[in-house]
Parts: sequence; structure tokens; C-alpha cells
Amino acid sequence: MTTERETRQLLTELLRNFYGRNWVSGTGGGICGPADGGGLLLAPTGVHKERVRADDFFTVDPADGSIVGRPPNESLRPSECNSIFCLAARERGARSVVHSHALSAVLAGDLARGADHVAIRDLEMLKGIRGVANRDVHLLPVIRNTPREPELVDQITRVLDDPRFAATFAIVVADHGAYIWGDDVMEAKRHAEVYHFLFEATVARADRARVDPSAPPRP
Ligand SMILES: [Zn+2]
Repeated sequence: MTTERETRQLLTELLRNFYGRNWVSGTGGGICGPADGGGLLLAPTGVHKERVRADDFFTVDPADGSIVGRPPNESLRPSECNSIFCLAARERGARSVVHSHALSAVLAGDLARGADHVAIRDLEMLKGIRGVANRDVHLLPVIRNTPREPELVDQITRVLDDPRFAATFAIVVADHGAYIWGDDVMEAKRHAEVYHFLFEATVARADRARVDPSAPPRP
């Protein structure tokens, strides 16, 4: 049984790790995880993510995003991801969500070329996504960016309601990054690692197909 204190420590550890991978650079990106009593622990906004401490998390009620617990540091503000994290919690039962600003997520979004998804196929790593097999064609939803993060909620609601995207644990926001979730912090971590690999592999294959027309066709 993981205590909330341990979850807070784990989230700070992951933010440092993700910073090292350039997923949450420039104070961008974020993370949430389960709090005691059914709430979500939410990292603060506008801070260097590798320096977030265990006491710096807000606690929000996923039913409506209301703040039910604040960090002792009164200068901190809750992440703009709040409404999106709560939406994933309500619609998909996500207890942990990673928001990445990785370059690979942006470049993967470019492959949609205005369509609403990118098809990912022929990669063993697909098996790292719960319920997905390596022979599956996995549809990665891609939505348009908006001036403010909470304005993404309408598009994300439509994706989560779309049966074509029932198998996904990630949504790419074009020109911006990705939201990736799981049942708990460690599943969200695994899915984040798997999806970033899939982004990188799909982008690299598309590049190769462009310079070498004899390479197998890719999305
Ligand atoms: Zn963002």
C-alpha cells in the first residue's frame, strides 16, 4: 500500500527524470497522481519541474477540479492541466496523467497533416500499452492546439467519447505535446515511456520513407 507521502515523493522523482529526458523543459508539462481520499495531487504551474518538492502539490477534486488542498508555499499556483487531468480521471478512470512537451510528441503530431490521428503499427513496443498487441494498428488521436490549456477540454472530450480511440492512453496536441495516462503512477510512467518511443520511431520511419522511397510506406 503506497502512502500519499510516497506518491508525492514518486511524482517529484518522475518530474526530475522527465526533465532529464526533455519532456518537461522550460517549466512546461506536468503530472498528477492519486491523493488520499480520492483526490488528485497536482504539480504547480510555471515552476522548474525538476525542482518541485513533495510539499508543493495541490490536491484537487476530480469531480469538478476544485482545489481541496494547497501547498504551504502560497506563491504556487495550480497547473493549467487541472481541468484536463480531471477529465481523464472522470472519463477513463485515470489516477495519474503525464503532460509532456517533448519534441517527439510535436513531430508525431505533424504526421497527422491535418487529420485527427496518426496510425502506429509494426512495433513490439505497442505491447507496453495495456490491452494492445504488437500486430494492432494503434490510432493515436491528434487535436489542435489552443491559446490556453483549459480550452483543449472540448476536443479532448470528443476524443475520449470516440470509439476509434477506445484503446488509446494518449492524446497528442499539435505543436504542443501530449497527455498520457494510466491507472496509477507506475502505469502512467510506463505508458509515457512507451508512447515517447512510439512517437520517436514513427517520426524516424516517416523521415526515412521520405528520403528512401523504397522503404516500407509509413503514415
Ligand atoms: Zn502544455
